[in-house]
Amino acid sequence: MLTQGPRGTKDILPGEVDAWLYVEKKIRELCERFGFQEIRTPIFEHTELFQRGIGDTTDVVEKEMYTFTDRGDRSITLRPENTAAAVRSYLQNKLYADNSLTKLFYIGSMFRYDRPQKGRYREFHQFGVEALGEQSPAVDAEIIILAVRFLQSLGLKDLELSINSVGDPKCRPVYREKLQEFFKDKLDGLCDVCRSRYDRNPMRILDCKSGECQRLSVGAPEITDCLCDECNEHFEKVKEYLTAAGISFTCDPRLVRGLDYYTKTAFEIKYSPLGAQSAVAGGGRYDGLIEEIGGNPTPAVGFAVGLERVMLALEQQKLFNAEPHKADAFIVALGEKAQSVGFKLLVELRDAGLKAAMDYAGRSMKAQMKQANKAMAHYAVILGDDEIAKNVAVLRDMESSAQTEVPMEEIIKKLTDEVKG
Ligand code: AMP
Repeated sequence: MLTQGPRGTKDILPGEVDAWLYVEKKIRELCERFGFQEIRTPIFEHTELFQRGIGDTTDVVEKEMYTFTDRGDRSITLRPENTAAAVRSYLQNKLYADNSLTKLFYIGSMFRYDRPQKGRYREFHQFGVEALGEQSPAVDAEIIILAVRFLQSLGLKDLELSINSVGDPKCRPVYREKLQEFFKDKLDGLCDVCRSRYDRNPMRILDCKSGECQRLSVGAPEITDCLCDECNEHFEKVKEYLTAAGISFTCDPRLVRGLDYYTKTAFEIKYSPLGAQSAVAGGGRYDGLIEEIGGNPTPAVGFAVGLERVMLALEQQKLFNAEPHKADAFIVALGEKAQSVGFKLLVELRDAGLKAAMDYAGRSMKAQMKQANKAMAHYAVILGDDEIAKNVAVLRDMESSAQTEVPMEEIIKKLTDEVKG
């Protein structure tokens, strides 16, 4: 138990961190280009924020939150997603004050008590963006393009982008009624969850994973046939912008989000080589959320990408090769005196900006040279009693095996010139 992390969590080991840093660098470069600024919000928030901000009837809020009472008797929840938190921060810090359009991005871990499997964890990481304050369909297109470009920049091909419009509080009630009408005499065949969704949230029956529910929803009315003029026009514009940008997509009328504050555009990106957990990104417009959380009505749109799934895809497709971590210099010190001179030199080399290492265990020359090889050192700096007495060190080029004796006071300059040269 003590040597086993909690179920659904994963260590990102030193050998894996390079790939994460590479992906995070891509995110930061791309977001900079698209004009999104990073925001870092706390990992926990008041539980109510997520209840309001994600919706009481969602699986996330009903079954998956890590919620606890803190010592001050407040109900706290580890964030299961970051949109609600970003909106909370946007309102609390009045980020709308200077900009009519506020563009934020985040990278961080999220927590959901889900059934763990490959690609699904209880602690996982998302990269997400939120564009707040603008209702133009150009923003919807912009963030979809950003998500696609991000995945493409990592070398992922054959991404499947699906888009839909889920309408707005004006046209959706009509659609809900049509759906309820359609499912009315099929209720007995639906799964328990969908039966309970029938009244509260019938649109979610459409994305139920149960085979029987999927079969029964064949031929269900499609939201795109019920959109009001405004939603229809918005959707057409998004498609136009995407087409103009050369982004291929399919329209999927079953891509739904049943909550009232989700409006208009919904999208998802799949990468099918990942198998069962192939959804890598999901997002859409949420023009009703900011008001729900207590702000003035403000249009907004965003997405989140699951980074573990991105990492799995990179690994699967062998799209990332880590550069080996090579030391510039490895100090081989023989004897006590040499150890202390070597240690001082180690500190000075590092202060001079070089990657330097040494052995502290007083091992044999042979063992220390082996370590220098393991550290892939460019040079070994050999110090023994003779060298100390002469105030020199022997520099050994680990590749050519050429050795030169260098006065102590010249070592740092010589190594710096050679390495940075
Ligand atoms: P969502 O916030 O549910 O719209 O999810 C956005 C993306 O986060 C999904 O497309 C997945 O790539 C990823 N994701 C969601 N839940 C998990 C999880 N439990 N483990 C790993 N990735 C997840």
